[in-house]
Amino acid sequence: MNLPKMPMVYFVAPNAEHYQDIRTQLQLFGFDCQVFTRNSAILAAMHTQSPFAVVIDELGLAEMSGKQCVPLIGKLSKGPVIFLAEAHSVAEQIELMRAGVSDFLPKPFNSQQLIDRLDALQEQLRPDPFRVLIVDDSEAVARWTSSILTDAGMLVKRIQNPLEVLFQLERMKPDIILMDVYMPECSGDEIAKIIRQNTQYDSIPIVFLSTETHRGKQLMARSMGGDDFWVKNMEPEELVASVSITAERYRQLRRWMTRDSLTALLNHTHIIEELEQEVARAHQEFRMLSYAMVDIDHFKMVNDQHGHAVGDRVIKCLSRLLRGGMGKPNAVGRYGGEEFAVILSEQTLMRAAQKMDELRQSFSQLTQVGMGGDEFHSTISIGVAQLQDGMTAQQLIDAADRALYQAKAAGRNQVGLAH
Ligand code: GH3
Ligand code: MG
Ligand code: MG
Repeated sequence: MNLPKMPMVYFVAPNAEHYQDIRTQLQLFGFDCQVFTRNSAILAAMHTQSPFAVVIDELGLAEMSGKQCVPLIGKLSKGPVIFLAEAHSVAEQIELMRAGVSDFLPKPFNSQQLIDRLDALQEQLRPDPFRVLIVDDSEAVARWTSSILTDAGMLVKRIQNPLEVLFQLERMKPDIILMDVYMPECSGDEIAKIIRQNTQYDSIPIVFLSTETHRGKQLMARSMGGDDFWVKNMEPEELVASVSITAERYRQLRRWMTRDSLTALLNHTHIIEELEQEVARAHQEFRMLSYAMVDIDHFKMVNDQHGHAVGDRVIKCLSRLLRGGMGKPNAVGRYGGEEFAVILSEQTLMRAAQKMDELRQSFSQLTQVGMGGDEFHSTISIGVAQLQDGMTAQQLIDAADRALYQAKAAGRNQVGLAH
């Protein structure tokens, strides 16, 4: 599978063979990995290319224990240092943390747990920049606010004409709107009221920025659908902090509303909404679009044989693979229990089928681990359909569903194409 720039993970362990399997598993999830068994080799490597993360086995190297390696590696590492150990007391953990360990994983080692941890660490390191929409008729004020927020790493769009706001909301999907109160075409509270007529924007906070300090006027503006009222002459640091806190809080709320809690993928309602938007865009711009329905094979048996918790882990594992394979966070959704929806923008049926078949193969190669450490493999069946002239999103879903049914009937673990 073709994955862009794989983050590197270094392992410090006495035995490289033991890690061959882990390496294969990590690669399927987009992490590269290298195992070091000698102190001089790991130190030289850390000097030349600092990895994304280092995992230290408590067994350490031939010449020193894992615990002895920590201070040396901790000093050189720019990223997380994960320590693998059978059990450690709080006192031992604190001692290791002081020496440079940032995370602990228990042994026996399970690669899914490590991948989960690496995924979470990666998200923390590369948070999506906040998107801010500034609506202000004064060019000077908007430019000043915009430059402060841009310098803080945010993506900012400013518009002077408030009548453009709905268009920009759809296009940019901001995390927060900073709205001037007095503008010539119409006032900020009128625009807020119009935005609030569109329920899909309910979870985007509107903050009024004004020199207005009159409490009555402030309350009036908030009753129109604004979420907060800030004074215009805030200190830059205060502005950055206020925007970050508010945007992050609403982002979190939005995640709960739109994403499935087990997999963090778009939930049923929102993947369909996303598909409807993509279908409309494809028709408008004469672009190709394909859609795939993915279903785990004999999943009831996985639950029956290994328990519901292991079943959940298989679902998470597949969701991570699909999300990683598609790159775009909104291209994959959890359609139902063990069913997933994938939107393949600008793809022909054949290209989409090929891509999905690669993912099918990758998934079948992943080692799943049961409660007692027993290993097994799971497979998926996939139905792919391409958008035809005049087709609705629902018709596209139905076509993919029929193709999935055929793949199941033909023996599972394969891709079915819609005619
Ligand atoms: P097929 O190959 O035909 O798809 O067979 P199947 O057993 O996968 O299909 P079926 O639709 O009969 O069963 C799906 C099972 O998935 C039933 C349900 O208990 C289980 N399931 C649905 N959601 C979850 C979940 O969130 N976690 C777990 N562990 N199981 C789930
Ligand atoms: Mg199934
Ligand atoms: Mg099913």
